[in-house]
Amino acid sequence: MTIIDGKKVSTAVKENVKKEVEQLKAKGVTPGLAVILVGDDPASRVYVNNKKKACEFVGFKSEEFALPADTTQDELLKLVDELNNRKDINGILCQLPLPKGLDENAVIEAISPMKDVDAFHKQNVGRIMIGDYDFLPCTPAGIMEMLHDYDINVDGKNCVVIGRSNIVGKPMAMLLLHENATVTICHSHTKNLKEIASGADVLVAAVGKAKFVTEDMVKENAVVIDVGMNRDENGKLCGDVDFENVKDKCSFITPVPGGVGPMTIATLMKNTLKAAKLQNGID
Ligand code: NAP
Repeated sequence: MTIIDGKKVSTAVKENVKKEVEQLKAKGVTPGLAVILVGDDPASRVYVNNKKKACEFVGFKSEEFALPADTTQDELLKLVDELNNRKDINGILCQLPLPKGLDENAVIEAISPMKDVDAFHKQNVGRIMIGDYDFLPCTPAGIMEMLHDYDINVDGKNCVVIGRSNIVGKPMAMLLLHENATVTICHSHTKNLKEIASGADVLVAAVGKAKFVTEDMVKENAVVIDVGMNRDENGKLCGDVDFENVKDKCSFITPVPGGVGPMTIATLMKNTLKAAKLQNGID
């Protein structure tokens, strides 16, 4: 059994981005990422801080817009509009979830597709569907990069994704399909989940429920990817997979923390670099 080291792979990705940023800076271009955070959700604050740290590491300019929870939709859209028009900002990220009363979809649609480094805008989502895209969504793309790094080939494999959110489950299934996997998507209405999951060569859990995937749901020698970021009964960060009981059955497994999370951020850095290059006509 191999524990996939997302931290190591993500550091290598960020080192590559850093090198490219140095070259871009020599051409007078410093990639800029704007991060919008509305309200005071502690988990969102941690994610935003980690993204800012990664920006510093690779040499981006990052600008944080921390807005109060009572920010109106109009105020938020006005900020997005200003950022869309700034030449020094190449990527715009609005940390989700937004406080109640704000329309996430409207905010996502307001971000210029060229600056949509999360790849959530419907124009980018559509382009991913047909395999002709500039940006891939950070979490699924980070997972694919991790699989590649460990020489895990999904071609012809049975891959099961538990979860069908627009940000993780659905695009994850699409990226696996692009690489010729046979993909099954499960969700809260799925019957016989245990039976389906235990037939998976590659099992991706994106459910949001601590230790949801148990040993009896995992095939011998499966590759298990844990997207979940939950708190266990002691308040400790844990994934969707019951890691201790599942790990010995797997050929590969990602830990939480140190698996998918760092890859998500590394992919965000890649996307922002690409946005800066595209917007400046640099190949
Ligand atoms: P989400 O929008 O809440 O989606 C959860 C999915 O799980 C839904 O499709 C839901 O089905 C399904 N589900 C819930 N209960 C189920 C059950 N009993 N059986 C089968 N399926 C069930 O969550 P998300 O945004 O995709 O995030 C999932 C997890 O990943 C969360 O823990 C989140 O914090 C984490 N996450 C981590 C990263 C990272 O970088 N590591 C990035 C993003 C998210 P329905 O559609 O039928 O409701």
